[in-house]
Amino acid sequence: MPWTHLLVAATVYLVFNRIGLVGFELPFFALLFGSIFPDIDHPRGMVSQFNILKVVSGALQRVVTHRGFTHGIPASLLFLGISIQITSFLELDIFVALGFFVGYILHLAADSLNPTGIKWFQPFHNGKIRWRISTGSLSERIFFFFLIGVVGILLSFQ
Ligand SMILES: [Zn+2]
Repeated sequence: MPWTHLLVAATVYLVFNRIGLVGFELPFFALLFGSIFPDIDHPRGMVSQFNILKVVSGALQRVVTHRGFTHGIPASLLFLGISIQITSFLELDIFVALGFFVGYILHLAADSLNPTGIKWFQPFHNGKIRWRISTGSLSERIFFFFLIGVVGILLSFQ
């Protein structure tokens, strides 16, 4: 699933880039990082394997469940605030934080395609948004290769 999240983010980025809504000022790698960040609440999450984030992930897993707090709008805004502080401290462009945020939201959107779904407004509201694409299923593989096809087509147009 992390590869699907990365591919969703790359595809959306390329679509907006090709129709001229975003240039390359939106930091692509921040978007990709944001697209895998919410799974910091899972021990096998791709982002949970990075050095310092392994510690953060371990601490978070003691207080939240997978697809719990980190998978909602309130958490995305909290992490947007933190990323703005970090980009400001490191004197980076604000678009780094915004790219991270867009990637984060794309992660939530992609997880909403799963039958487990997510609660977008937790802890304030427990309504779930979900669909039918199970993790590791044939339908996820078809979705994945469809996205690869879209990326291939988009990259073929300069
Ligand atoms: Zn997730």
